[in-house]
Amino acid sequence: MSWLPTLIKACYFLAALLFILGLKRMSSPRTARGGIVWAGYGMLLAVLATFFLPDMHHLPLIAAAVLIGVSAAWWSGKRVAMTAMPQMVALYNGMGGGAAAAIGAVELIGYVRNLALLHPAGIPDTSPLRPESWAINALQPVADVVLLSPLELGLGVLGALIGAVSFSGSLIAFAKLQGWLDKRFVFAGQRVVNMLLLAAAVLIGIALAGGHASLALIVAFFALALLFGLMMTLPIGGADMPVVISLYNAFTGLAVAFEGFVLGNEAMIIAGMVVGAAGTLLTQLMAKAMNRSIGNVLFGSFGAAGGEAQAIEGAQKPIDGADAAVMMAYAERVVIVPGYGLAVAQAQHKVWEFAQLLIKRGVKVKFAIHPVAGRMPGHMNVLLAEAGVPYDLIADMDDINPEFPATDVALVIGANDVVNPLAKTDPASPIYGMPILDVSAAKHVIVIKRGKGTGFAGIENALFYADNTRMLYGDGQAAVGELVTELKAIDA
Ligand code: NDP
Repeated sequence: MSWLPTLIKACYFLAALLFILGLKRMSSPRTARGGIVWAGYGMLLAVLATFFLPDMHHLPLIAAAVLIGVSAAWWSGKRVAMTAMPQMVALYNGMGGGAAAAIGAVELIGYVRNLALLHPAGIPDTSPLRPESWAINALQPVADVVLLSPLELGLGVLGALIGAVSFSGSLIAFAKLQGWLDKRFVFAGQRVVNMLLLAAAVLIGIALAGGHASLALIVAFFALALLFGLMMTLPIGGADMPVVISLYNAFTGLAVAFEGFVLGNEAMIIAGMVVGAAGTLLTQLMAKAMNRSIGNVLFGSFGAAGGEAQAIEGAQKPIDGADAAVMMAYAERVVIVPGYGLAVAQAQHKVWEFAQLLIKRGVKVKFAIHPVAGRMPGHMNVLLAEAGVPYDLIADMDDINPEFPATDVALVIGANDVVNPLAKTDPASPIYGMPILDVSAAKHVIVIKRGKGTGFAGIENALFYADNTRMLYGDGQAAVGELVTELKAIDA
């Protein structure tokens, strides 16, 4: 079966091609769904091909692991709410990083064991390096003893470091987004401690990559890398979270690509590089949109200037559905600003119905999307596309901001942090410096939300107390439903 290795390589290349084409299709909401399916077929092909690799052992164990993984992913994927998608992404991300780190660990352990097999005389009887004392030997019989090349060893260590950091960091990001952990955990000297952890992990990594491998060093290396990922993510919170999730995505891709090189697996190298590049670009875009440098996200924090937060004066002024509908019915321009609450309320279809009624009356309607509105990049675009809102009615932050002063009514639905003027005016605010949608510049602002709940950053919003703002309290879908009814009554 001399053709088998060639066929397997061909399958890997086809899988990689499907990943790339799938990703390409994901760049447009029209083709994104198909893109996911194409990439899924690519992954299926890569996994199946791997079973036929000539030196594969423990196939039943691998099949059991695949079965458990697929069942857990299928079950959670079917159940997850759209609003909980970022947690899910963080978790999957972490699993990818963890898998890359595990490959690195097995390769390093194999390296030490092979070293011991090649130089049995040099190893004292009591050494933990003696092959027979290792549980791993029970799982991994040695076919022939070949040591990793220095390049493979170096990339294996680097991939393991990045993967382990991404694994523990993503788990913390998951716990934060799920609401299981306080948004930020800060203590004095944190940066120094983190830097020391990283430096220690890197130093041990250099020793390992230089061939000075031992079981104790490997354990210390992974413990430090995992701890660093954990400690690095704990202080990050608030509006920085999207950037961090995307950064870990890039990390995972890189880690997988490096480990793919060590394993000589082309599908892993290409898929890892694609994920790494896409994650890096997304991280840069998000950081730019948040007006933050990556270093600042990781080692600084929003509102680091400290000081007393500005007190907000005035009171929230309610409006009822009938008055709000009249205001918009007779407006010339209305800009609709969706946020996380729109997703919670699943109000996208009602909002589009309302917008269509306004358009029919001759009102110029646009939708304004902040890059981090909702809980994942593109969250609002996906919801609006699902409801059938045409793309030419959807505007990005930079394009719509100059239009707010000429807007009669800005209708904010379930958005909070992304329209908070304190991001511009209060240096002590945790979101100070984050660009926002300038809705307060509109002539009138109507905000739909259930009550006085805060947004993701957990802070008050000066917009809700502004003179030109009226609050339409209620669940997003019910409130917009009321607007639809009132508008129809005006038209009747
Ligand atoms: P926010 O999370 O700031 O605010 C959402 C608001 O929606 C709340 O104030 C809440 O108020 C209201 N709300 C909740 N449920 C409903 C409902 N059923 N009907 C009506 N209103 C509702 O949302 P934004 O979109 O403005 O901001 C996104 C935030 O999430 C940013 O801080 C961003 O950094 C962060 N983030 C973004 C990610 C991304 O990639 N996009 C990822 C992770 C975090 P009330 O309780 O009174 O109803």
